[in-house]
Formats: sequence, C-alpha cells, structure tokens
Amino acid sequence: MIIGPSGIGGAKEAESNLEFLNKNNLGAAEVAFTHNTYLKKDDAIRIGKIAKKLDIKLSIHGSYYINLNASEEIKIKKSKERILDACQIGEYLHATHLVFHPGYYGKDSKEDTYENIKNEMLDLQKTLKEKKWKIKLAPETTGKINVFGDLDETLKLVKDTKCSFCIDFAHLKARNQGILNLKEIIEKLKSFKHIHCHYSGINYGPKGERNHIPIDIKETKELLKELKKLNCTVICEAPDTYNDAIKMQKISEK
Ligand SMILES: [Zn+2]
Repeated sequence: MIIGPSGIGGAKEAESNLEFLNKNNLGAAEVAFTHNTYLKKDDAIRIGKIAKKLDIKLSIHGSYYINLNASEEIKIKKSKERILDACQIGEYLHATHLVFHPGYYGKDSKEDTYENIKNEMLDLQKTLKEKKWKIKLAPETTGKINVFGDLDETLKLVKDTKCSFCIDFAHLKARNQGILNLKEIIEKLKSFKHIHCHYSGINYGPKGERNHIPIDIKETKELLKELKKLNCTVICEAPDTYNDAIKMQKISEK
C-alpha cells in the first residue's frame, strides 16, 4: 500500500514538498488541477523527474468543472478539453491516474446519464490511445446523491470503457448516510490488480457529502487493515492532508 497527500504546491514549492513526503515515508501525491492545470510543460517535466528520483508516484485530480452529461454540447467539449489538457501535463509528470468526477444526472435518468457519460469516455479513451498516453482516466466515486458516480456505476464504466477508477471511501460513506460497508466494497474490488483510492473524514447530510474533515483514527485503522489485502494507492483528502497522510502511513506500518 502506498499512501500520500493531495496537493504538491506550486511549481516553486513542489520540490521541497516532495522531499518532505519522502522523509516521512510517503510514496504518493496527487497533483491538484482542480481549479486549473497550473503546471507548465517544463515544470511538469522537472517535477516528474524529482518524484521519480524520490520514488513518489504522482497522480492528478482533474478539474471540478467537468460534466460529460451536460445538456449543452459546448460544455461537454470544454469538459473533454480540460481532461485532455490535464492528461498532457500528466504525461510530462509521469502521473499514473487522472481522477475526475464525470458528471451530473441533471434532468436525465440514471440510465441515460450512464449512456451519455460512457460514450464520451469511449471517445476520450480513443484519443488517449491515439496519443499513446500512459496516464489512465479514473472517474471517481462521488459523495452527493445527485452526482453520477456510485460504486456500481463507476465499476460498470470500467468494464465498458476499460478506464481506470478512483474509489473515494469518504464519498461512498456520505452517499450511504454514514455507513461504510467495507467488506461489501472490498469484495467488489478484490479482482483488480491495483486500486487508486481517496480517503478522509466526511460530513454528510441527506443529500450526501457536505465537506471533508480530519481522519478518524479508529475508522482509518479498520480501512487500512482491509486495504492491506489489496494492492492500492491511498490519497488522503483531509483538510490537513500532509499531517493526516503521515498519520495514515504510521497506522499502516503497524
Ligand atoms: Zn476524492
């Protein structure tokens, strides 16, 4: 199991941040392109080399402004451009996964939403293949019940489009009103060679996710005990992501 935080800081801080992670036995980090793809090519190449040297696996969290089921064609086009721009920089970083929330149900049925998102994903997969990019598209399980991406939808997308995925345990818990059926989830995941995960504490309401909160030590112990049975990367998305990732690493070493 490899553990790391979300965020490596700006182009200037990235090197010292990665060194800090390495010193604390963390082997992963997720670059946050959530508001924009903020790294230029040269910086991405440089940071990718540093991460490799320090044996830190990089992944990317893509834009929050993605909706592959938007009713306006232009919004789908822009969403795909954001995904592909992040993938391009991800290649320079040698990032393994581009994590993103694929879209909203909006006024559509769950079935229609699935079909629309699947078709856009297939088109994106075709582009990645043509460009010979190695980064994997990883739609994430989402935390709000009106947002596409429960566990079964996500795994169906994996099956139908051969994409990768990101399991956010906090989101699954929020979607399920605070109940994390770990055994049931792990059962559905155990056949995969590698699993990219997110974890943090979570505040939730009737509609699901409200906000991320610090990790709960008892829950973290239970989760990591189960995840040890799988080959996985776990990104900590708690507000104090560096310190909570270090706590998670220490728990996993016990
Ligand atoms: Zn997440």
